[in-house]
Amino acid sequence: MLNYDTSRLLNREEFFHCLNECVAQHQMDKGQIALVLIDINRFNRINTLFGFKMGDDLLFNVGQRLLSLKRNKDILAQIGNDEFVLLMPGIQGEAHALLAVNKIINIMRSEVRLNEIPVAVDIVQGASLYPALAANAETLLQGAGIALREAKADGVSHRFFSEKASSPGLDWDVESELEYAIKNRNFELYYQPQVDIKTRLPYGAEALIRWKHLDHGAVPVDKFITAAEVTGQIMPMTEWIINAAMRQASEWPTRFGEQTVSINLSPRVLHEPDLADYIESAINIWGINADRLVLEVTESGIMENPERTSEMLHHLQSLGASISIDDFGTGYSSLAYFKTLPANELKIDRAFITNLKTSAEDQNLVSAVIALSKGFKLDVVAEGIEDMDTLLLLSEMGCDLAQGYYLSKPMTNADYQQWLEDYDQDNYWK
Ligand code: C2E
Ligand code: MG
Ligand code: MG
Repeated sequence: MLNYDTSRLLNREEFFHCLNECVAQHQMDKGQIALVLIDINRFNRINTLFGFKMGDDLLFNVGQRLLSLKRNKDILAQIGNDEFVLLMPGIQGEAHALLAVNKIINIMRSEVRLNEIPVAVDIVQGASLYPALAANAETLLQGAGIALREAKADGVSHRFFSEKASSPGLDWDVESELEYAIKNRNFELYYQPQVDIKTRLPYGAEALIRWKHLDHGAVPVDKFITAAEVTGQIMPMTEWIINAAMRQASEWPTRFGEQTVSINLSPRVLHEPDLADYIESAINIWGINADRLVLEVTESGIMENPERTSEMLHHLQSLGASISIDDFGTGYSSLAYFKTLPANELKIDRAFITNLKTSAEDQNLVSAVIALSKGFKLDVVAEGIEDMDTLLLLSEMGCDLAQGYYLSKPMTNADYQQWLEDYDQDNYWK
């Protein structure tokens, strides 16, 4: 197949060539293909706790083990930092693919010793089949990705894609109503405050979108964001969000100085050529200082296409806006990578904050992230703070900004302005 030496680990680009080629070939001869995504659970912890060298050694070891069990005609590639993919042409069906999945589970059972430290590799797999579960190369990969996310969410070792699982889980057609909702401005922005831990004063707020459907009530955010991404409506929706957030932020009380406003950007819109122009004109129209604007991009979103994203982030930063890496700790990257990225802020994912008081492992991780961020001159935000003890702990650890239900749940623009007016630090630091 193609001109690649498939006995070695291919890279992402080589893999996509092979995938397309392979599907085209099987379309002609009516064969079956399995695609298995293999992801290392919580790989980031290894990087953060033991260092990047050890993280790299571990990835190399995993790659070698996977290579040792693939058939000659299989293709193995590393497509993300800690994500591998096995493409199996000419298989006989799901049972056949399951054999490979089980072989992978077995070969990963033994611990690796890195610098004399035994490290267990916990992997998760998501698989799909062409043509039984997917019509083309793109949906084959997508299906395996969905299966992988579900396996992770359910805490199981592997899962095959199934049509049922891919339905949005709603009994009405979100996608077709989205367009109507965007045109008719049926959305609202809620704001969740962030407080500066050192001064104990309000610092800014994150805009979080809400859709209250006339018949169906509140629609879960992740459901309709995903639907907007899939149907190509995410850009018009994002334009609405950017405009509404800046308009509202331009009217916020300045009792504690000008507050920042953080806007979440889907990785899909980062490739829209008009994004930066749109943001620039909104800044001008609403006359807000560009340095009040924080643009949040998730770590995993950046890692989908690091080079292109980096270019866009540079552009956005040149407008005067800050870039924040959202949900940090859940993606594929190592902190060292962020040295090369134009970022100003890092938001530690809620998953690491929820059990901070009781989990020594999370404490180590959060301390390490804060220490490294200081080296890269990044501000650190902790999201998901739900009680005072966690806030105090983060304060001791040197975290810069706090966000979470303990300070306030996301609220309407009017309530947020009232919250600012009423703010009294003694309510939170008791
Ligand atoms: P995110 O950007 O990480 O936003 C933080 C989420 O954590 C919000 O959920 C917020 O309500 C929730 N949260 C904040 N503090 C706490 C806490 O103390 N405890 C708990 N349990 N949860 C807390 P929400 O609003 O449901 O948003 C979920 C995700 O949807 C967001 O995660 C973001 O990725 C996405 N999203 C929300 N609004 C937008 C938007 O306007 N545009 C885009 N592209 N994505 C958005
Ligand atoms: Mg966010
Ligand atoms: Mg987040």
